[in-house]
Amino acid sequence: MPRTRTPVVTGWFAGEGDDFTLLGTRCSACASVFFPREDSHCRNPGCDCGDLAEIPLSRRGRVWSYTDGRYRPPSPYVTDPELPWEPYTLIAVELAAERIVVLGQAVPGVTVADLAVGDEVEVVPGVLHEDGETVWTTWHWRPTGVTA
Ligand SMILES: [Zn+2]
Repeated sequence: MPRTRTPVVTGWFAGEGDDFTLLGTRCSACASVFFPREDSHCRNPGCDCGDLAEIPLSRRGRVWSYTDGRYRPPSPYVTDPELPWEPYTLIAVELAAERIVVLGQAVPGVTVADLAVGDEVEVVPGVLHEDGETVWTTWHWRPTGVTA
């Protein structure tokens, strides 16, 4: 039986292949961009507007920082407590147009030894976790080969 593909978090990303993007929100007054999306009020302390619209974020950014996770991450990451924890690589990516830093896991197989601050990465669909009925989807960052 085919398993359903379900986003691990609803509304944070959309699309497939080259159309895959993260979804943030942008304040119509001050143009601040939020990811994770902020839908209730602008978090800019100097702005009292409440009009936030969904926008796709830039698909490419630059490595701002990175590390590897040797502990089991907290929610919303879904892990199977029955399985041993597999280390993963976590990248903080600076999106220049939005002026924000977005965290995410690197695609499988990329380790901290493969990364340098300033390298270009792009967002791609990824699988966070699978069980008998569901493939839990997420986003991953993949190096483009353009280095700092
Ligand atoms: Zn604002």
